[in-house]
Amino acid sequence: MVKKAVTVARDALSAPLIGLVCNMAYHLCPSCGARETLFSGPSAQEMARDLGVLLLAEVPFDPRLAEVGDQGVPLAVAAPDAPAAAAFRQVAQALEGFWGRGS
Ligand SMILES: [Zn+2]
Repeated sequence: MVKKAVTVARDALSAPLIGLVCNMAYHLCPSCGARETLFSGPSAQEMARDLGVLLLAEVPFDPRLAEVGDQGVPLAVAAPDAPAAAAFRQVAQALEGFWGRGS
């Protein structure tokens, strides 16, 4: 799935490949804060390495994302301290760095 998206973006659309963002990369247990894996298979790091792209961020599962997204509010505004919000800030910084470079 990821490989297909990368191939379409790179070969068919000639879009710049900035990196990989892994959504629902893990879940943080609300009771103890333990990091729990949601899906089996290769990790985001492994996928990024296999594709030869940067891993920009791993966004943890957060049910608030859907709630606030439906209201048109970024999680980074609604819950700036959420780990998922931090992951999106990381993506924004990576994009800034990419587009700021040599343009
Ligand atoms: Zn727990």
